Amino acid sequence: MIENKKRRPTRRLWVGKVPVGGGAPITVQSMTNTDTRDIEATVAQINRLTKAGCEIVRVAVMDQEAASALSKIKARIAVPLIADIHFDYRLALAALKAGIDGLRINPGNIGSRERVQRVVKEALARQVPIRIGVNAGSLAREEMVKYGGVTAEAMVASAKKHIRILEDMNFTLIKVSLKAAEVPLMLAAYRQLADEIDYPLHLGVTEAGCGLEGAVKSAVGIGILLAEGIGDTIRVSLTGDPVQEVRAAYAILGALNLRRRGIELISCPTCGRCQIDLEMVAARVQAGLEDIDKPIKVAVMGCVVNGPGEARQADVGVAGGPGFGVLFRRGKPIKKLKEAELASALIAEVKR
Ligand code: SF4
Repeated sequence: MIENKKRRPTRRLWVGKVPVGGGAPITVQSMTNTDTRDIEATVAQINRLTKAGCEIVRVAVMDQEAASALSKIKARIAVPLIADIHFDYRLALAALKAGIDGLRINPGNIGSRERVQRVVKEALARQVPIRIGVNAGSLAREEMVKYGGVTAEAMVASAKKHIRILEDMNFTLIKVSLKAAEVPLMLAAYRQLADEIDYPLHLGVTEAGCGLEGAVKSAVGIGILLAEGIGDTIRVSLTGDPVQEVRAAYAILGALNLRRRGIELISCPTCGRCQIDLEMVAARVQAGLEDIDKPIKVAVMGCVVNGPGEARQADVGVAGGPGFGVLFRRGKPIKKLKEAELASALIAEVKR
């Protein structure tokens, strides 16, 4: 267990009703991949994300039409909404007026001091936090020249430059991210900045990739930092359905005992002793229990010899035998079943 006292102390801010930093639970974020102007599709995706446990959702705001869709989207969702804006201060103003709960914009990239001031004033009046999102892939030339390329030092210097702009305007509702596609680079950047500031940090490995590879990359980058007590909110970036990002985020938090959502499924890797189609049983159990958000440990094990013992800490489980299986509760067998009945019996037992 990563104890709260070992987490890096940070300031608390609020994204809508969701606290971030200051010892609050580490929140799970995601970003829609719909066209924000398509209100129906965006609302549908946000509501799917919410059902999967996503607590803060970000949408890209590319133009005024997208900005004016924000208030309509907000009216139909139950989670705080963050507008992701690049360069155009007018879009930031429009998003704030639409009632968004957070902004992701880099103040150094939106032009004159007067423009930044207008955005900051509006955000402050509404107590809307701003995330400074430094990305290794889009560092300013100035920092790259000074620090010899895309380095952790250059990323930290860039973040500090944007932070200073906001602080000079007495704005401190700040979160920061330092994303990179390379895990060692993002680790170094976050560690350095964590030593220098006490604003909450939003963790992520950018452009992590697809499926398993992307999830593993994110788990390594985000997981290492979380294990060191760094990080207040996380976003796993995966190519494809963002609901997978939320599942991966909870798997990371669950693996570190930081937070858990849904049942915990333990399944054995199988070996020569396994005489049932364990992969199929595990997949059915996982799908059947997807909507259950209770702290229950469920085991699906390949054999009765070692299975129940190996999964002793599970609340309920099944262990396979030659064409049959045993349903067990806390390591003790309670019923013998045909292989075909195993998944449904286990699901029924959990629901019971
Ligand atoms: Fe092998 Fe049985 Fe262990 Fe699964 S539970 S890995 S089948 S010994």
